[in-house]
Order: sequence, then structure tokens, then C-alpha cells
Amino acid sequence: MSMRAPRLHLASGFSLSCIVPVLNEAAGIASFLRRLHRVMIGITPRVEIVVVNDGSTDGSAAEILRCADACRIHYIELSRNFGKEFALQAGLDAAAGDCVCLIDGDDQHPMELIPEMVQRWRAGIDMVYALRRFGQSESWPKSMARSFVHRLLTSRSGLEIPVGAGDFRVLDRKIVQLLRTMPERTRFMKGLYAWGGFSSEAIPYEQQPRTTGTSKYTFHTLSDLAACGITAFSTTPLRLVSLLGLLTALAAVVLGLWIVFEKIFLGQPIPGFATLAASILLLSGIQLLGLGIVGEYVGRIFDEVKQRPLYVVARELNRGALLESVQEGTRA
Ligand code: UDP
Ligand code: MG
Repeated sequence: MSMRAPRLHLASGFSLSCIVPVLNEAAGIASFLRRLHRVMIGITPRVEIVVVNDGSTDGSAAEILRCADACRIHYIELSRNFGKEFALQAGLDAAAGDCVCLIDGDDQHPMELIPEMVQRWRAGIDMVYALRRFGQSESWPKSMARSFVHRLLTSRSGLEIPVGAGDFRVLDRKIVQLLRTMPERTRFMKGLYAWGGFSSEAIPYEQQPRTTGTSKYTFHTLSDLAACGITAFSTTPLRLVSLLGLLTALAAVVLGLWIVFEKIFLGQPIPGFATLAASILLLSGIQLLGLGIVGEYVGRIFDEVKQRPLYVVARELNRGALLESVQEGTRA
């Protein structure tokens, strides 16, 4: 954590951007955006809501555009569903505020916390994140899996990725600039926020259950995200494979010595087919496991070297027109 220095130069006024990723939230998005806008202008008059439509197919676009002018919405429509991490990055690339807030569009994050988060940012904290209390409004297997992945990442990457910290947070402009320079496709935002090492503080909150729509994260997409986080921030699995190889080799040596001992000193015949079959199965299983883990990293290198864009913008409305004083309207 770095030293706290109040942002006195912003005393005359600062701008606030909120980034909202949206995938099929038509039922509740318009009322959510109106309420969010009210909360934001209660903080500062210079606001924009960057709504990133991540390939919705349910009429979310029309709902968002219905309140675009009233709510100062900078609308970005991606050409297809790229995933939340990429939708957030599209928002970060476009957000123009001094202070940038990330919040889900499903109303599960209590927007009433934003004034307090911004207040702490104004007091000099670079990143203020909301910390969900463990297990709330989520099935316990999902909570346990999240908790396991976060703990593993924290212990292996050396970064502070607290259990319960999600994307609901307020970032200083310099963190946004840093995130814009990070080109990786294996994108695990919670790790990237922490990577910069800027000062941060948590505010605990109770997550609301969804009132409309359903979670976009299935067991499958969550396990993809977990694999992404682990491979992006740690090489521990590769080290485990080496360790497993070493242990197997040791076991083979011990077994070999035992067989020789049995033959010479106990006069036992060398055991045949069953031992052979079992050891071949064990070794090939371990080799395939190792290959799979190495393959996971090689696949990600393959994704990185292609250098494809992180997302494709199909339509964009009101870019830069929303803030009265826009610092930089250009994408990094
Ligand atoms: N979302 C998105 N792209 C995706 C998945 C989700 O933009 O591929 C959005 C979604 O519309 C919501 C937020 O990300 O605003 C969080 O998603 P969700 O509520 O499904 O996640 P959960 O709260 O279950 O973790
Ligand atoms: Mg949600």
C-alpha cells in the first residue's frame, strides 16, 4: 500500500465514469441505469455511464438506448459476446473520467456504496473495491470454488486477490491507464487490478439476489475463468508436473530395487504382466496429465502470439460527448 494523499487538485470538481457490462439484461437494465445515473449526479455533475453491450440478443440494446440521453450513456456495442473480462476492457478503453467505477448491470451490486467508494478515492486511495461477504446469494459449491481459486491465486502469484472481491470497484485514472497497456488475451481482471500494486481498500457488502434474468456464469464458464486466472498468474501447475515426475521416478527406482532384492535374497520370481500393466497405466496417466497441463500454457501462448484485438466494436454512440471536460477521448 502506498501513502495516502488527498486529491486536492480535484477539489474544483472531478469527472466520474461508470462502466456497465451487459449481456441479456433487458428486463431490468433501463431502471438500473436511471437509478445509477441519479446516484452518480449526486456525487458530481460530470458523469458518464459507459454501457458495453457484450453481444446481447434479447433487446437489451433498445432498452439501453431508450435512456441514453437522459442518463448520459456512452454506448458501446461489441460485435458478439466476447466475455465479461473483455467487455470491461472495452469500457476501460473508452472511459474518460478521473475516477472510474465498474458495476454489474444486473443490480446485484449495491450502487448506494458508490458515494462512499468515491469518497475514499478522493481521500487518496487508488482503488476501492467492494468485498462480498462469503457465500451470500450464491450456491455454496460456487462460493467454495471461487474461494479456492482466489486463495490459490493469492498464495501462488504473490498478489492480493481477496476472496469475495469482484469487479465492483472504483479505480483511479492511473490504474485505468495501466490496464490499457496490458495486451494479454488470457485476461483475468481481478488479477490485473492487483498487479499494479496501487493502494487499495475494501468495503464489505451484501450481494443482492438477482431480481431479473439469470447468471451468465455456468460451471463451465467459471472453470474456464479459473483456469485462465491460474495460468495467467502462476506457473505452479508446471512445477507440480515436474514434482510428480520426480516422485514417480523415485517410486520406480524403489520398486526396481525391491524386485531385485526379492529375486536375489528371497528367491521370488520377478512378477509379471499385472505389475507391468499397472505401471504402464500409471506412467501414461501421469504423462498425459503433464502434457495436458503444459498444453494449457502452450494454448495460451498460441492465443497471445496471434495478437488479435481483444474485442470488436460494432457500434458506438455518444463517445466523448458526455463529459463537460473530457481529458482524453482517444483509446490507448
Ligand atoms: N456479462 C457480460 N458478458 C458475459 C457475461 C456477463 O457482459 O459474457 C455481464 C452481465 O450482463 C452482468 C455482469 O456481467 O451485468 C455479471 O454477470 P452475472 O450476473 O451473470 O455474473 P454473476 O453475478 O453470476 O457472477
Ligand atoms: Mg450477477
